[in-house]
Amino acid sequence: MRWDNLTADDAALFGADAVTTRTFDTPEFRGITFHEIRAKSIVNRVPGASRMPFEWTVNPYRGCTHACVYCFARKTHSYLDLDTGLGFDSQIVVKVNAPELLRRQLTARRWHGDHIAMGTNVDCYQRAEGRYRLMPGIIAALRDHANPFSILTKGTLILRDLDLLRQAAEVTEVGISVSVGFTDHSLWRTVEPGTPAPERRLEVVRTLTDNGIGCGVLMAPVIPFLGDSPDQLRATVRAIAASGATSVTPLVLHLRPGAREWFMAWLAEHHPHLVRRYERLYAEGAYAPKWYQRRITRHVHELAQEYGIGPAHSARARRITPPPAAPSPAAPATEHSTQLTLL
Ligand code: SF4
Repeated sequence: MRWDNLTADDAALFGADAVTTRTFDTPEFRGITFHEIRAKSIVNRVPGASRMPFEWTVNPYRGCTHACVYCFARKTHSYLDLDTGLGFDSQIVVKVNAPELLRRQLTARRWHGDHIAMGTNVDCYQRAEGRYRLMPGIIAALRDHANPFSILTKGTLILRDLDLLRQAAEVTEVGISVSVGFTDHSLWRTVEPGTPAPERRLEVVRTLTDNGIGCGVLMAPVIPFLGDSPDQLRATVRAIAASGATSVTPLVLHLRPGAREWFMAWLAEHHPHLVRRYERLYAEGAYAPKWYQRRITRHVHELAQEYGIGPAHSARARRITPPPAAPSPAAPATEHSTQLTLL
């Protein structure tokens, strides 16, 4: 392990009073730099113009070692003057005081106990969480204040906190969603290189469900021309249904600035024949055309009906009945992504 205290300039970069940079020699963390900060605020309000179905978020990390090529949150690394490509995958900002800060903010008189969404910017159960263990303190704080919350993740590490999640679900609304856009292994290995395999994520869904914590699947992203064939969609929905997921919500790939450049470079390297087709499909901006999105959504919903699994009925989590009763939470209708969260 190596650690250094950074200069005043580095501290200013992150807008924090102190930044400590660490690297670890273990294979799991080789090549990754952690910037530990003491954040000044941890509950972030989603900007008003956001399309998100939640208003408040908590994000203990910035950057994500899951390294999904398409990650919508890449752009947020540029706000820290960090690289949105490899830098996003390997320069991880850790808000080490997140649990204590959250506990304090939950007691503030102006806080009214609104729903808090997690995993909406980057994955709170990425590999770093195995070392920093911020989520147990965060969930415990939410449990102790009976504050409703939801988590979206690709990380199997969430099962470490199963007992805490169950305790929280006994006193408030808890919604868990796992993100699985496809089950194709060759696609997974290249486009989501740092994530657990899709079937391992679906095992998480099964385990949560078996423990009385219903879990939806955000089928995201559906990747045009690479993960959208009828056979691929069928295989994915079938696997999601078999996992016991309470809902499936498809979401087509979108390519915002920051993610777009990185994804297109990857596409040119791995699937050069598709570059022109992508340029045409995303000619209007970050989103695929409506007709394409509708086609995928309709197809997935038909498959979901065939396999006996319904689309998410609500963007908000529902109160979870302690085991053995089966609850019905909902999936946040977004991939890890989107809104600007400031340190
Ligand atoms: S999409 Fe989610 S899991 Fe993948 S890199 Fe981004 S934040 Fe991490």
